[in-house]
Amino acid sequence: MQTFAPGQDGYREEIAGFQTGVQSTPQLVVAAADADDVAAGVRYAAAHDLPVSVQATGHGLRTPAEGVLISTRRMTGVSIDPERAVARAEAGATWGTVVEAAAEHGLAPLSGSAPGVGVVGYTLGGGFGLLGRHFGQASEHVRSAEVVLPDGTAAGGPLDAGVVTALEFSLFPVTTLYGGGLYFDTAKIADVLCTWRDWTADLPDTVGTSVALVPYPNLPVVPEPLRGKHIAHVRVASLGSAAQGERLVAPLRALGPLQDTLSTMPFTDSGKIAAEPPHPHAYLGDNRVLPALPDELLTTVLDHAGPGAPVPTVLIIDLLGGAYRHTTAADFTPDSRYTVRALSVVEPDPATVQAAHAKLFAPLEPSSTGRLRSFVYGRPLARA
Ligand SMILES: Cc1cc2nc3c(=O)[nH]c(=O)nc-3n(C[C@H](O)[C@H](O)[C@H](O)COP(=O)(O)OP(=O)(O)OC[C@H]3O[C@@H](n4cnc5c(N)ncnc54)[C@H](O)[C@@H]3O)c2cc1C
Repeated sequence: MQTFAPGQDGYREEIAGFQTGVQSTPQLVVAAADADDVAAGVRYAAAHDLPVSVQATGHGLRTPAEGVLISTRRMTGVSIDPERAVARAEAGATWGTVVEAAAEHGLAPLSGSAPGVGVVGYTLGGGFGLLGRHFGQASEHVRSAEVVLPDGTAAGGPLDAGVVTALEFSLFPVTTLYGGGLYFDTAKIADVLCTWRDWTADLPDTVGTSVALVPYPNLPVVPEPLRGKHIAHVRVASLGSAAQGERLVAPLRALGPLQDTLSTMPFTDSGKIAAEPPHPHAYLGDNRVLPALPDELLTTVLDHAGPGAPVPTVLIIDLLGGAYRHTTAADFTPDSRYTVRALSVVEPDPATVQAAHAKLFAPLEPSSTGRLRSFVYGRPLARA
């Protein structure tokens, strides 16, 4: 087992994660290669009365790690049991690896928008995936969890009992999606929001969708025709045939997108639907769950997080409903129908970004049914 103390070569590299806005200085980093290393790290922490933190990819960091940080980035093992349609993923595995491995057997997991996100951290937060409206949350489909308890002994679950070293979860017979994105120019944003909201009213649960308002920077890395524009990006992941998909998206297409990437795609390409930036950066994010999106609420959202907003913000509205209606998760009521999520790079400083997000969410508060902790980024939940 490798360990790193502050100042030692490799210490900073081991701590570095996708979220660069949370800087940690733990007393010891345990670079775990397997469950025994995790157990040794946890026992060391217990013996020295130190807190334990865990980090896989660092997508979900909120508070600086203290005490002993168990780094699981080396525990990337993934295996598939096609007979049972079950995957086993070690603590550091990412969705991209599971998606690829499952696809070899004609199966798919309940993964989310970004292949780089860690399986365990995602599942611990519930797991809102591309297919979630049809199959439910990832956490509802966990078959078993291998966990190291706070005294350093290994046990079989539950998920929140300690440090998870591996998970077994169900896979589903999905090989392709009709999916991709429709990108609309700035002048159409208000129209797109209203049309998308109306479109989602009776959408079958075989369709997962969100709409994102994205201020694309004026940089060569951004392809034309999106470069330098504030874009409304409708994302679609639909089970079923291309013909069904085409029929369903017709009212959105009629609005005249700048760019249209909807097509039948292998599930292994599903990360292209949201096309989120894969590079580490510093970001702050918060969200609210809402039962409805009345016109005045969409206007508020546009004022605070649309073109001309004081702080550049990626604003994402996800459709919930479908199988999510039956989930027993704390964040949900049967009325939970949409999330409104804000995500900003930390510029010029965290306080300015947090103040801008607070102004966006204050008018949403009275009708909100809660907040999904998975989509709170770069800040402690209690202070959010
Ligand atoms: C670009 C992006 C896209 C995302 N897309 C989705 C999405 O589509 N759906 C969705 O539901 N969520 C999504 N998320 C949120 C994501 O699921 C959470 O941020 C999750 O916590 C990330 O887990 P991680 O292991 O990658 O990150 P890490 O920061 O390494 O871990 C996050 C936290 O999980 C806990 N943790 C991690 N591993 C263990 C372990 N082995 N044992 C115990 N606790 C552990 C720790 O508390 C840790 O601080 C997205 C996040 C980003 C940044």
